[in-house]
Amino acid sequence: MKIGASQEWVSAQWEAAIADWPVAKRYQGAERVALRDASLRFIARKTITAGGDFVVTDAMCLKLATMACVPILKLGLDWYDHFQTVIVYQDDYVSEQPYRSEDGVVHSGTRGLSGEAWLRGPVILSWHSIGQSGPHSRQGYASNVVIHELAHKLDMLRDGANGAPPMHPDMRAGEWHEIFSAAFGRLQDDEDHGRSLPIDGYALTNPAEFFAVCSESFFEAPENLQQKMPEVYRLLCQFYRQQPAEQQGEANLA
Ligand SMILES: [Zn+2]
Repeated sequence: MKIGASQEWVSAQWEAAIADWPVAKRYQGAERVALRDASLRFIARKTITAGGDFVVTDAMCLKLATMACVPILKLGLDWYDHFQTVIVYQDDYVSEQPYRSEDGVVHSGTRGLSGEAWLRGPVILSWHSIGQSGPHSRQGYASNVVIHELAHKLDMLRDGANGAPPMHPDMRAGEWHEIFSAAFGRLQDDEDHGRSLPIDGYALTNPAEFFAVCSESFFEAPENLQQKMPEVYRLLCQFYRQQPAEQQGEANLA
């Protein structure tokens, strides 16, 4: 970012960087200013670095920071204080880490990844995958790799990645567990019977992926989530302190 740049210049750069991300249109007026400010503070606080010989431009930083800040807009940037670094690869990258595939088998080889969030480490993202964000972009399902990986980071704040982030005082951990377990069970049942799924079946990998995939849907395709999984939608409204399906309606009227 240009040193000593004027507020107007920075604001114009931010608007240009997020112009092709429809979710940002949901935030207008004071909320839009808050989102821009949070994004700029995210860039100032975090180390955003390129993987390989990729070059991360200011516009890329602004866009991914904005995607990162949408989930914590009503929570506060300090919910991200437990990590420092975001690494961006040009394309899906190859991880050398051992990993557990969907069938539960732990593999020691390499695999292509669109994003990763380490328990005590960086968030790793593929710029190519960030460009695929949208309400129907992953085999017809909502996709946003930034929101997905940051949801894992929020989840990790309480007892590791287990699908339950820290609860606010007005929320009950028991209710969260009950509703998310039931929704997971219904999705598994749909999958087992070959019915069409309301969200990406990758959610069935484990409860942590379920929360991350539901969070992608919550922000990228909220009306779909509200309609198909109303109880999960309601709890995510409580956790994120946002009502994106309702905000969507207002944006459409404007
Ligand atoms: Zn994941």
